Amino acid sequence: MARALKVEAAETATIMKAGVVTGKDFIAILEHAKANEYAIPAVNCTMSPVTNACLEAAKEANAPMMIQFSNGGGIYNIGKGIKNEADQKASIAGTIAGALHVRAVADFYGVPIILHTDHCAKKLLPWFDGLVEANEDYFQKYGEPLFTSHMLDLSEESMEENLDICKTYLKRMAAIDCFLEMEIGITGGEEDGVDNSDVDASELYSTPEEIYQVYTELNTVAPGMFSIAAAFGNVHGVYKPGNVKLTPEILGNAQKFICEKEGITDTTKPVYFVFHGGSGSTREEIREAIGYGVIKMNIDTDTQWSFWDGVREYVANNEAYLQGQIGNPEGDDKPNKNKYDPRAWMRCAELATVKRLMIAYEDLNAVGACAK
Ligand SMILES: [Zn+2]
Repeated sequence: MARALKVEAAETATIMKAGVVTGKDFIAILEHAKANEYAIPAVNCTMSPVTNACLEAAKEANAPMMIQFSNGGGIYNIGKGIKNEADQKASIAGTIAGALHVRAVADFYGVPIILHTDHCAKKLLPWFDGLVEANEDYFQKYGEPLFTSHMLDLSEESMEENLDICKTYLKRMAAIDCFLEMEIGITGGEEDGVDNSDVDASELYSTPEEIYQVYTELNTVAPGMFSIAAAFGNVHGVYKPGNVKLTPEILGNAQKFICEKEGITDTTKPVYFVFHGGSGSTREEIREAIGYGVIKMNIDTDTQWSFWDGVREYVANNEAYLQGQIGNPEGDDKPNKNKYDPRAWMRCAELATVKRLMIAYEDLNAVGACAK
């Protein structure tokens, strides 16, 4: 049943369409990624210089890029002077503003761009509702949703409630060609103010039975229109090696289990898996996970560092020119305007991030993906 949409995508979608992609064009990219064993980087963006660095890296790598906003990213993007209330209106507006920026500029970069939002826990559902409404409005005007996909993370709730809520939203989203990423199990560590660093270790590993249940139940609502963030010992953030062990074979075992249960013979990887907490993982671990059907890996911590590192290096190299508006080693009356212009030092943050993302594309086996 899941294959119906994929066959349709293969027949009618524009493969590796440039600009923001949604619906069948997005499914075609996921199938292309799976067939060519690469994954798409999904980078948390908080402001246009971060977003533009991602777009620039995608152009340089000639590969798709997933631009994603967290709830906190949306709050930052509207401006921290605006208070975000429980109704999430400020975060909704900030997240939409980030998406509209991408919509306005993506075509210039000549590669497929996927617009996505990150973790949404139960208490943040008003944020999710606002984004789905924005997609429905956009669909009415342009025949496609504003965002390609969204993530729901109800992994703190019971499996039954998690699936119930996901199915309700997926039905509404699939009607406007919008894709759902859902989470089961728990990603360890801390991100965007959510701290899972002290959960029981067994919660950090999903079972084939759990993944199978999600796969079959969501397939009854919208075949092939969802991905699963299963837990395989992945952790948000970068830490010294500890007790948590990354176990990508959990994903491979689940794919095999589902193929056997469902009698699937035309693919060995029926599930689209996503990899949260990729920062700090080795290239071997990442490639192993891709081999088991991971089509997307989140990157946040490593690009937070690169963005800062570009500024750090700029300040270190130009310190004597950054102590006042006038006066530097070349003379007490020499102006420093071109050194403290935000475009000068922010550009270094962008370039350091482009450089870091090229390593990510290499890790993900995605350099030159558009030409594969
Ligand atoms: Zn995550």
